[in-house]
Amino acid sequence: MFFSKCKKCGGKKVSIITNIDIEIHGTMRKATNVPAKQCEKCGDIVVNDIILERLKKYAQDYPSRNLDYAKYEEEESAASQILF
Ligand SMILES: [Zn+2]
Repeated sequence: MFFSKCKKCGGKKVSIITNIDIEIHGTMRKATNVPAKQCEKCGDIVVNDIILERLKKYAQDYPSRNLDYAKYEEEESAASQILF
């Protein structure tokens, strides 16, 4: 079973919601409300690759906007409901 452990110090990682800077096509963007894991010991933050991919797609869809991950998720689920 997968156990989330800090690669740097071996500390326990907990789920958090955080703001990150992310480089997309050579441009730094700010992303807010991003789910991540943070080490309780050293404070190291890791964002899941799947979430990073979604943020990149989001940045392409909304080049001028601040990236609010929670809002994006909301819009995505609203859009899939409209399809029915
Ligand atoms: Zn750590």
